[in-house]
Amino acid sequence: MKTALESYWSGKSTEADLLKTAAVLRAANWARQKAMGVTVIPSNDFTFYDHVLDTSIMVGAIPEIYGWNGGAVSLATTFAMARGCQGKAEQDGAPTQGVPAQEMTKWFDTNYHYMVPELVADQRFQLSSLKALEEYREAKALGYDTRPVLLGPVTFLKLSKSKDPALKPLSLLPKLVPVYLDILRRLHDEGAQWVQLDEPALVLDLDDAARAAFRDAYAQIAQALPDLKIMLTSYFGDLGDNLDTALSLPVAGLHVDLVRAPSQIYEVVTRAPDDLVLSLGVIDGRNIWRADLGELLDRIEPIATQRGVDRVQVAPSCSLLHVPIDLELETDLDPDLKSWLSFAIQKMGELSALGCALSQGRGVVQAELDASAKAAHARRSSPKVHSPAVTGRTAAITREMMKRTSSFATRAALQRKRLGLPPFPTTTIGSFPQTAKVRKARSDYAKGIISEGDYHDFLREETARTVRWQETIGLDVLVHGEFERNDMVQYFGEQLSGFAFTKEGWVQSYGSRCVRPPILFGDVSRPEPMTVNWWTYAQSLTNKPMKGMLTGPVTILNWSFVRDDVPRSTACRQIALAIRDEVFDLERAGARMIQIDEAALREGLPLRRSEWKTYLDWAVESFRVASSGVRDETQIHTHMCYSEFNDIIDAIAAMDADVISIETSRSKMELLEAFKTYKYPNEIGPGVYDIHSPRVPSVEEMTNLLKLARQRLSDAQLWVNPDCGLKTRGWKEVEGALVNMVDAARQIRQIS
Ligand code: GLN
Ligand code: ZN
Repeated sequence: MKTALESYWSGKSTEADLLKTAAVLRAANWARQKAMGVTVIPSNDFTFYDHVLDTSIMVGAIPEIYGWNGGAVSLATTFAMARGCQGKAEQDGAPTQGVPAQEMTKWFDTNYHYMVPELVADQRFQLSSLKALEEYREAKALGYDTRPVLLGPVTFLKLSKSKDPALKPLSLLPKLVPVYLDILRRLHDEGAQWVQLDEPALVLDLDDAARAAFRDAYAQIAQALPDLKIMLTSYFGDLGDNLDTALSLPVAGLHVDLVRAPSQIYEVVTRAPDDLVLSLGVIDGRNIWRADLGELLDRIEPIATQRGVDRVQVAPSCSLLHVPIDLELETDLDPDLKSWLSFAIQKMGELSALGCALSQGRGVVQAELDASAKAAHARRSSPKVHSPAVTGRTAAITREMMKRTSSFATRAALQRKRLGLPPFPTTTIGSFPQTAKVRKARSDYAKGIISEGDYHDFLREETARTVRWQETIGLDVLVHGEFERNDMVQYFGEQLSGFAFTKEGWVQSYGSRCVRPPILFGDVSRPEPMTVNWWTYAQSLTNKPMKGMLTGPVTILNWSFVRDDVPRSTACRQIALAIRDEVFDLERAGARMIQIDEAALREGLPLRRSEWKTYLDWAVESFRVASSGVRDETQIHTHMCYSEFNDIIDAIAAMDADVISIETSRSKMELLEAFKTYKYPNEIGPGVYDIHSPRVPSVEEMTNLLKLARQRLSDAQLWVNPDCGLKTRGWKEVEGALVNMVDAARQIRQIS
């Protein structure tokens, strides 16, 4: 699908080609599910880009700028909403002027990104796409009577935004529900007995208005379509205080996530009406571990016995979008590790085995049960997973290890003396352009086309050139450029024990973009220094301070598939110790500054507010374990690239990094308000230019931003740097922008 899409976007294939590929893939997926014994097969789970975008299109929530005429929505309009459009395209139905893409944001606490629906105060909804109906028909013609899936109306509105701050999207529910009734009626008329409505908003903190919205929407659906059965799906957590609401809705089925929230089953079973079909989400849709089928059956057999097998379904905890497709493609994985894993296709096999065991008794799938028990046992006792040395070391972490020797004020004075930096010191976040040349060298080396020696010579040359250039333009604190790194997490994962990497374990991030998260399978340790040689080489080229550059434990954890046999906090502490070792080695090698990036700290926040503190406590502790062992005069930097600090400012302060760099240019420094109000004492580098755009900002623009920063923080606190790393940019823009940035710092030093 990715290849077909990208080929279509680049004009190498036609719309007809794309539609054909899509239909072939849908047919193959249905056939595969059927062959694997899946009995309730979904339709409308296919999308060209994003299912939330499809929902916006279905209900006609298409902002004016996309020039939609109210008729059938063309693929060109769809992709304009998804990716923006230059306005030059002569494709049918595409906007004739350049338009930006819709905003994109993370889907709950996953690494999948959806297109944020954008609504207006006088929003009108109308059924504008029959995709759900067409795919239902398509499946039926192939012999599959499917259960169509739609994103539910309340979650759709909860995820929507408006430029008009006065508009509460939920207030549009009365206008939206008729469109849902329209499509549901058509599906029902066409023969669909069941429709699945996804309402993951049910696991969020909801106010009374949102709960009322659920009651209103589902009452109307039940009233209009009394014979249509709705499977209401919740996932990504506990229904918790929304359980009453969920159980009071007039639906025929309820799906619950029993991986994230296994214990909710007791309440659900006790309080569910007798005729409610329960869909038990017991196979982990968010992670790659093989289930212990016997253990699962011990838990779900009593429910099936009590309610009757026709009122119980077994399912993945959530969509399988979040796991890779097929484990069998992994020919290089350690065979033991491989036997402990399960990707989407294998998970269907597990579900089918559970279903058979429930309906016909365990005996019919004895071989599967035995194999799964054997794998579970092996994993529990394998020395590849469990290292007593690591467990011991993690258990022995003390409060002392999480504290710098002296307070920030003392450290800052020592660091100032040692470093001798000017006011408003200039630096960058770490990476320099990963040009086609750099990527080609890496892939040539991976393929064996060039030798390790040649590859390293190439990297050394790139690094040296970058260091010299930074010196020439007058930056105060230098970086080595990160040319040797494929990715800020993978680079470390590959050198730590306890991590494995797949060849084909791709997971969709957004649109046609996919990532291959590392698999954290065992106790983590660091056999050897990971960055010291590169740092030493880079520092040898200059007298200016060279920052050591590391990825922090919370970010490594949050961007990996993690263990399900130890708490996340434990895994994080282990990684923290490994990074701590690296920090010590860098310091010993002479590093005066070490940056530990925590780009993913915020995105790890739990969905429920009540769980934030626990998470932030261990996340901050882990950062402190990694960073606090150094001497007072060694300066610890961290970097975070996001835009909301208000609600986590305490945690940021508790990290106690000497310097934090953040993304602020697009918010016009407003983000610094949170730091000002908090009276944040340590140093801050607020980004003065947007690295997401190729535009070169002027000296004046950046000087003005620095003036704004100065209104909120003291001069002694401020650093000057871009918003984030420069790896996605070209050298030309980077050169222009950084020269101007250094100039802006010189200017601001003159203005008192
Ligand atoms: N040091 C990393 C870089 O410069 C940080 C990237 C990030 O925060 N996402 O690329
Ligand atoms: Zn960043």
